[in-house]
Amino acid sequence: MQDLRNQPINTPLAEEVVKYNYADKMEEWQYQMSNQVNTLEELKKYINITPGEEKAIEETTARWGTTPYFASLMDPNNSNCPVRKQVVPSIHEQNNLYGIENYLVYKENRSGDEERPDTIARQYRDRIAFTVVNKCGIYCRHCFRKELVVDKSLQLRFDVDEGLEWIREHTELREVLVTGGDPLLLSDEKIDYIICKLREIPHIEMIRFGSRLPIVLPHRITKGLQRVLGRYHKVPIWLNTQCNHANEITEKTAESVWALLTCGVNVGNQAVLLKGINDDKKSFKELHQKLLNIRIRPYYVFYLEPAPGIDHFRTPVEKGAELIRDTIRGHTSGLAQPMYVIATKIGKIPLMPDYYIVEKDEEKYTLQNYRGEITTIPNIHEDETADSPLH
Ligand SMILES: *Cc1c(COP(=O)(O)O)cnc(C)c1O
Ligand code: SF4
Repeated sequence: MQDLRNQPINTPLAEEVVKYNYADKMEEWQYQMSNQVNTLEELKKYINITPGEEKAIEETTARWGTTPYFASLMDPNNSNCPVRKQVVPSIHEQNNLYGIENYLVYKENRSGDEERPDTIARQYRDRIAFTVVNKCGIYCRHCFRKELVVDKSLQLRFDVDEGLEWIREHTELREVLVTGGDPLLLSDEKIDYIICKLREIPHIEMIRFGSRLPIVLPHRITKGLQRVLGRYHKVPIWLNTQCNHANEITEKTAESVWALLTCGVNVGNQAVLLKGINDDKKSFKELHQKLLNIRIRPYYVFYLEPAPGIDHFRTPVEKGAELIRDTIRGHTSGLAQPMYVIATKIGKIPLMPDYYIVEKDEEKYTLQNYRGEITTIPNIHEDETADSPLH
């Protein structure tokens, strides 16, 4: 109850949540999941819906909705609210200019030469994505896995044991990224099972979870889950979440991150660059500062992938690099700087700002800082270093 009072609550529903929870002994997160805000009627308790939003909801065949907690972070009177735009379907989802049909099959190399279980997506030699569920705490309108998660046009077989067996056979792997959907929506028992089984495989050196729940359902980080994640083990657990705007961060988020950190789980962020949500200087800088403020380390900012029906969120490719140049590097803590990447079917490709090297000749590099000031460093050639007294 205390937790929710710290939020901008737009609805009396939050109070009901607590009462029901108390009466029923259901965990808060389970209550939140079984009461997703995913009907027009429910949504109207949170926001004053516009005719355009109403039309989009009536016409969509895709999954949409989120937890009551995350819904309460929407601005009831502003349809441009950065939280609201990630939650509420838009009529623009019916347009498709740059999106690739069957995107996930294409992107995750699912139709390639290597035989793999449905749960395994592979782009690299030493690590794979292990897709264990197709449910989420929010059905993000910009989701690049939308064919699996939002539209449900792609059906995968979530056979965890089959996936584990494949991982066991592939001794070149050293890391498994457990993803979905949202893997933290599985029960504590199921998560415990996956972690234990992975840790039994001698070549697996680390486990990474991808979960939006610390942001959209921070209540999920319960004492029970802490027990599952928190035992000391030489195979560490890392977690990357997704937060796209500072308005998604509350006291409750900070507490859930602390709960993860105190049981030894490092928390990073993977944001998506979204037009009209975080592609302005103020939002971009604030997001990254606030993430650090609650102990989340910015890891990636993704250029929007070419999944179908999400073009209305698309920015020019250079945008992310420009925002890092203009608001992060030099302007604020270096720890706040994410790597800007485009995720492609041949892996993630960094697209960082390239203003630093103004000139390069045989003798020196001329470098520029964030203020446009110039300095030089010598241009060292490989063959010279070989003879240098330092080597
Ligand atoms: C993103 C991704 C990874 C992890 O890449 P990192 O650069 O290590 O974060 C691994 N496998 C697949 C299939 C991915 O999409
Ligand atoms: S939480 Fe992740 S997988 Fe789920 S809808 Fe959002 S972006 Fe897609």
